[in-house]
Amino acid sequence: MKLVEQRTACAQVGSGARMHAANVASPVSGLAQLRAWAGLACAAFLVVLHAGAATAASETPPMMLQQVAPNTYYVQGLAALGSTKNQNFISNSGFVIAPKGVVVVDALGSPALAQRLMDQIKTITDKPITHVIVTHYHADHIYGLQAFKAAGAVIIGQERAREYIYSETAKLRLEASRTDLAPWIDDNTRIEPADQWITGSTTMELAGATFQLDLVGPAHTPEDLAVWVPSEQVLFSGDLIFNGRLPFVGKANSGHWIVALDQMLQYPAKAVVPGHGKASADPQKDIILVRDYLKYLRKTMGEAANNLVPFEEAYDDVDWARFAPVPMFKFANRMNAYNTYLLMEQEALKGIKE
Ligand SMILES: [Zn+2]
Repeated sequence: MKLVEQRTACAQVGSGARMHAANVASPVSGLAQLRAWAGLACAAFLVVLHAGAATAASETPPMMLQQVAPNTYYVQGLAALGSTKNQNFISNSGFVIAPKGVVVVDALGSPALAQRLMDQIKTITDKPITHVIVTHYHADHIYGLQAFKAAGAVIIGQERAREYIYSETAKLRLEASRTDLAPWIDDNTRIEPADQWITGSTTMELAGATFQLDLVGPAHTPEDLAVWVPSEQVLFSGDLIFNGRLPFVGKANSGHWIVALDQMLQYPAKAVVPGHGKASADPQKDIILVRDYLKYLRKTMGEAANNLVPFEEAYDDVDWARFAPVPMFKFANRMNAYNTYLLMEQEALKGIKE
């Protein structure tokens, strides 16, 4: 594994915890908790809270290129909340050095980070960055897009994201980020739409290499894309795969998510670069863990909802032994179970109506 490290000098203290408010419901109401969960939902399924705090106490986070295949690299965001201190470096970005150019997957959480990544890419290739593929339009993955666009890259996204990017929710989130993530997100930061919106799934020749863009949403978002690069045997999974940790389910459609994970198991991937956390060198194991967890949540909470067993009672009755040792269990499981309970109630109601 090849490592290239770069540090920058700026550091400021602040907080930002509003990345994914729309995806989270809280069993114990309270703005503070909702806000905390909101920030953690996508960004920090990887983190234990005090680990994030420890990171925030150090200097600006290093950005290291990590090689996962002959021509494929990624940088790994911190397991933390987005903050002025960490420049919103809380998600991953990967890239493939193709025959005629560099194709990037996801754009990081601020234009400055995107610039740092471009500077890093220049240290290992002279080829231009020709394309950026967006796995989903969550803030921590897309605020860097405008920097890639300014450098001449063509942005490719899935058309289902359009509804969100022109929504009031996206606008309000950007407004909040201008405060929470200042100065990295400011009045010049914008949500950059794709130059090319794909419909459904598609296979594209980009910079002389084949990229298979598979629509695997709605799961984490309606527009979730998985990007399969056959020549590298690498899968970029967006936020659908977690590396040996429990996910935050939020309000995701876990039924579709399971289908998407089954689909991802079909790729003969040697490595998976997720939206957050370390690349997986054992994709089958990591995918199966998340899939089985989601299935178990749906089975146990579905039975409880159908039998009108109150959530608290149902939760205490479930045997969580298989998943309790998995990282993030203590932090995520109760909320995941509750959200799934609500989802299964809704699905049961729909079933009655139909
Ligand atoms: Zn994310």
